[in-house]
Amino acid sequence: MNVVIMGPPGVGKGTQSHGIVNMKGTVHISTGDILRMAIRSGSELGLKVQTVMNAGDLVSDELMMDLVRDRLSQDDAKKGWLLDGFPRTAVQAGGFISLLDEIGQKVDAVLVLNAPAEEIVRRLEGRVTCRACNEVMNLKGFGPVEVKFCPFCGSAEDPQRPGKSALYQRADDKEETIRHRLTVFRKKTLPAAWALEERYPLCEIDGLGTPEQVAARIAAALG
Ligand code: AMP
Repeated sequence: MNVVIMGPPGVGKGTQSHGIVNMKGTVHISTGDILRMAIRSGSELGLKVQTVMNAGDLVSDELMMDLVRDRLSQDDAKKGWLLDGFPRTAVQAGGFISLLDEIGQKVDAVLVLNAPAEEIVRRLEGRVTCRACNEVMNLKGFGPVEVKFCPFCGSAEDPQRPGKSALYQRADDKEETIRHRLTVFRKKTLPAAWALEERYPLCEIDGLGTPEQVAARIAAALG
């Protein structure tokens, strides 16, 4: 099964993606994760995209098309995929539809998660990631923001860079940048969803409530 999950930043795409790939046995392809990994490794791609990403802007369509074309051609993508964070513009959506036609694939479901802007800002401001176990969490749920140890794996330090803390806030999760990313979503990414809807089944999912409630809505939509 091939699924595209779309929605504003912080609506829960990452969390829900893990549930979907477990349920459907597909591979999770998060373009944001691929780009963050490139930045972390200091690769040429990482250096190219770092400033754009930190400002909450979009990486070029051309670069994203190359990245996704390459990723979908890898062996593990043959068992089905869940694309999280792509396409993000109408140009990417058009290129993606052509790419799928070219390689003889289709999207079985486009899921569009949504939630009000204020809820998203509230969620993202408390969002942190652990460099040791990669778990993404909301520290507001765990008490004081000065938490030193990852509540999931217990690490205090980045295993690759001793002295650097394990828990970190994404550079683009600051209120001003979050609001900018929400505008980018409305102006650029919603048209991408409409373009996909011309060709593939699209389902809007209410992203409010607990992760379990949202997962149940997704499971019902995917059947
Ligand atoms: P995400 O983790 O999906 O929120 O993505 C984080 C950032 O990565 C975005 O704000 C963009 O700067 C960049 N990015 C990820 N996917 C794309 C894409 N399909 N097109 C352009 N930029 C992207």
